[in-house]
Amino acid sequence: MDDMYDVVVLGAGPVGQNVTERSRAAGLSVAVVERELVGGECSYWGCVPSKALLRPVLAVADARKVDGAREAIGGSICADGVFGRRDRYTTNYDDTGQANWVKATGADLIRGHGRLDGPRRVAVATPDDDIVTLIMASFLCARARRRAGDVRAASCVRRRRRGSQDVRLARRHSQGVRPRPVRSHPCL
Ligand SMILES: Cc1cc2nc3c(=O)[nH]c(=O)nc-3n(C[C@H](O)[C@H](O)[C@H](O)COP(=O)(O)OP(=O)(O)OC[C@H]3O[C@@H](n4cnc5c(N)ncnc54)[C@H](O)[C@@H]3O)c2cc1C
Repeated sequence: MDDMYDVVVLGAGPVGQNVTERSRAAGLSVAVVERELVGGECSYWGCVPSKALLRPVLAVADARKVDGAREAIGGSICADGVFGRRDRYTTNYDDTGQANWVKATGADLIRGHGRLDGPRRVAVATPDDDIVTLIMASFLCARARRRAGDVRAASCVRRRRRGSQDVRLARRHSQGVRPRPVRSHPCL
């Protein structure tokens, strides 16, 4: 069965989580597809573990520079302790907390590898060898030139619905201000 969403987010790293939160805040329905761990590189392989690994080394190096503290430092860094610290900071590579956060935004979290499978279609190969097809809703088709699923376009449509941009442009025009050349973003 196909599932229809306003926005399909491929990957629940920091960027995907931001897009999810902002899309949900804008009232859009969201599916988040993640093939590994919710949190992505930053939480499990990049920022967090690298700082967790570096901290003991830096702490000892700093202490060695300080008179009075230097004398308290003996022996070498304990690798088990360092890696234990890394595992604690990466919650032992258990992403339950971040997965729950995604779900708490109201988004649906779908585990698996997603790929674009046609216009506004995403096919997700799930861990149990199933294929789930997600359709990005054509809610922007009322404005046919907008790209469906484009969050920035969505926010522009919302702005235009309120008419604020059109009013602002009309006011500037009446004041003799020539509009600047418009860049080629699809929502403009
Ligand atoms: C050693 C190291 C240290 C770093 N330290 C810092 C730091 O201190 N500060 C900082 O700002 N940045 C740091 N970074 C960079 C940071 O990790 C990245 O900028 C950030 O993770 C990028 O976020 P992202 O959401 O774009 O991608 P990612 O974090 O890579 O997330 C992408 C997610 O999408 C999933 N995915 C990809 N393709 C698919 C698909 N087809 N279907 C389903 N899921 C998919 C992946 O599994 C992944 O979870 C560091 C990176 C490294 C390697």
